[in-house]
Amino acid sequence: MTTNHLIDQLIRNLTSESTHKALRFEDFIARIKPEGERIFRNIFQLFHDMIHYHIADVTDEYPGDAESIGFLQYNLDPLFIENTEKPFFADRLFSNRLVNLAKSFRMSSAPNKIYVFKGPAGSGKSTFLNNLMDKFEKYVRLDDGLMYEVVWRIPYEEGGEVGSRRLDGIDGKSFLDALGRDGKDGKAHARPEGVTFFEVPCPNHDNPFLMVPRQYRADLLRELVDDEGLKKRLFKHKQYQWVFKNEPCTICHSIFDALSERFTIKEIFAMIYARRYLFNRKQGIGVSVFNSGDDVEKQTIRTNEKIQSFLNEFFQDSNKVKYVHSSYANTNVGVRSLMDLKARNIQRFLDLHGIISDEVHKVQDIEERIRSLFIVLMNPEDFDNMGKHTGQDSHELDQALKDRLHEILVPYVLDYNTEIKIYTNTFGEQIRLRFMPHVLDNFAKTIISSRVKGESKAIEDWIEDDRAYTKYCDPDFYLLKMDLYTGVIPEWLTKEDRASLKAEVRKAVLAESEKDGHDGFSGRESLHIFNDFYTRFSKKRPITMRHLYEFFMDDHRNYSTKIPRDFLKHLTDLYDYEVLKEVKDSMYSFNEDEIRKTILNYLVAITHSVGDTFKNPYLNYEEFVVTSDFLDIVETHLMGYSASNYQRSKFREEAVAEYASVTLARELKVEGKKITETRQFQEMYAQFTKTARENVLEPYVGNSNFRCAIKEYETSDFDKYDTKIRERVKVLFETLAGKYGYSTECSKVAVLYVLDNDLHRKFK
Ligand SMILES: [Zn+2]
Repeated sequence: MTTNHLIDQLIRNLTSESTHKALRFEDFIARIKPEGERIFRNIFQLFHDMIHYHIADVTDEYPGDAESIGFLQYNLDPLFIENTEKPFFADRLFSNRLVNLAKSFRMSSAPNKIYVFKGPAGSGKSTFLNNLMDKFEKYVRLDDGLMYEVVWRIPYEEGGEVGSRRLDGIDGKSFLDALGRDGKDGKAHARPEGVTFFEVPCPNHDNPFLMVPRQYRADLLRELVDDEGLKKRLFKHKQYQWVFKNEPCTICHSIFDALSERFTIKEIFAMIYARRYLFNRKQGIGVSVFNSGDDVEKQTIRTNEKIQSFLNEFFQDSNKVKYVHSSYANTNVGVRSLMDLKARNIQRFLDLHGIISDEVHKVQDIEERIRSLFIVLMNPEDFDNMGKHTGQDSHELDQALKDRLHEILVPYVLDYNTEIKIYTNTFGEQIRLRFMPHVLDNFAKTIISSRVKGESKAIEDWIEDDRAYTKYCDPDFYLLKMDLYTGVIPEWLTKEDRASLKAEVRKAVLAESEKDGHDGFSGRESLHIFNDFYTRFSKKRPITMRHLYEFFMDDHRNYSTKIPRDFLKHLTDLYDYEVLKEVKDSMYSFNEDEIRKTILNYLVAITHSVGDTFKNPYLNYEEFVVTSDFLDIVETHLMGYSASNYQRSKFREEAVAEYASVTLARELKVEGKKITETRQFQEMYAQFTKTARENVLEPYVGNSNFRCAIKEYETSDFDKYDTKIRERVKVLFETLAGKYGYSTECSKVAVLYVLDNDLHRKFK
């Protein structure tokens, strides 16, 4: 390409990206019809839409769960990680808090509050705010982030007529006509070329629609909007009340009044333009972030000499329009935030509080009304420091400010998946390969255990009998909590406790999480600890639970004092349970068809006596001989080894009764189900399979041939074993790899670990 072509290309790209030509007022009004929903967003709805725009996906691990409380996995990577200078890691708890806050903004009118994001040092608050503001700034440049503000274009070479047309007594339709919008031929009215105008932007970033006098707005919108849904929302929903209620700012108001002494309404509206309201953090427009070290705005009153002298000259009166405003005007309908609550930001915070309480404040003698989203970052101890500044103790301060503050917690990460994401972000994805499956999770859980509070009333009230869990969980249920914080409902819960995990219990557990994450290892410390660990053990192939234990329990390192007592022991118990389950599951290769046949024969066999021969109607009338061995094997699977003869015959009697009265009489004959669709068949099938799985290891635990074959898998020595063992071992390794992500190396370690530690006995 030639240089000219390149420049053309560049210009085309830049044009499509960033041309935001101002619209004539009538064109702006015409946009309301297709885009009213966007045009009439206040900053709170914009915040909501901005957050939602950046949610990559939402995962619900338990769709259809009637007790779900909507605690979902929101992927906020596009907001906090992608294209950022420094990533912020929002865990599941924080993501839900943020999304819920945004949702609460969606349907409400401007809340009169300061949003305080509170968390300990090292929780990443400032990165959170920087990334949020950065993405906000970019968002309002997109079509999705469309916002308009008023700019006046006042022609200054023409004299202009004196006198104005009165607006009284016209409805929305004639108001549109008054604006000169002639919808019939679709042609905008002509405007003389070459007129010079002076541009006066609204320093308060007023929405151009506010220039329509209040009494005409409802009629105008009724006339304009034909989408009934939008019409209903506009007129009924709280978040749009401002469209009818709010006045333009004092400056726009006075410009309008002054112009109306010399121009017709039609002419005045021809001077009103709508331009894109673009945020610019560096210039403090739309978004601004104040650091405690930033100079206090020396001159709180802002003027613009050039604009003021034009206005004075144009109206030949220096009192008609006073172009003065405060620095708050810059972030009107935008976001104003404080990076902390120290030094000069204390005064800024108190000023914000004053503005929020009074709603209107004076700039010289003109009134300014601020409608912004105020965000403040705060450490827990900041209130005490602020007290020193104001002479109040933190309690008094809290009382005075309470009803204007809305607190959102930003604690240390409490979700181990997010904790791992922090490690991989710093050390690379390849670290995962060094660890046995589960062990990296367990490293993260150990770090998080230092951040969790011991007692949990919500769990105490919920769990029926905590003795059921001595093999899987610590007595304080840290491990259970950690799973719940990650959105996982552990499958080792008893049936009863799983059933009583109602919405209220979940809410109570999550509410309690607010107490967690305020101390323990900070984000910075945990990276340091991981580095220490990884440097020491990355040569081990692979890293196992033993290394983890050794590292955290090492007296020289002094980490163990922050970790709950015996936590690593309980963590190892749970690990044992998990690895045993995976090995068993991978060993299991019973033929499903075989089990199906067994159950179908059993269902018919129990209606006969031992020694009988029958033709099974469910199996193409195949012949079957009822033996006591057969009944014994099936019932052992269905009831367990310990069932007595009496229990067995009782079980059989009940099964026969159910088969006759429910399975045959109702499900097959009346409901027309297939035998394999009946409840009785399905329950028996599930129970049989479960038992078969549980006992799958029994024949192999004492088998030294099997143990050696595991060790020699994928070596030349492996060929010396008989086909049966080779096949079994092959299935085991392949399933462990395919289903659970074990490398061959890790599989060997895991299976030997299970065998050598007699894990099948531990969880009998
Ligand atoms: Zn204005």
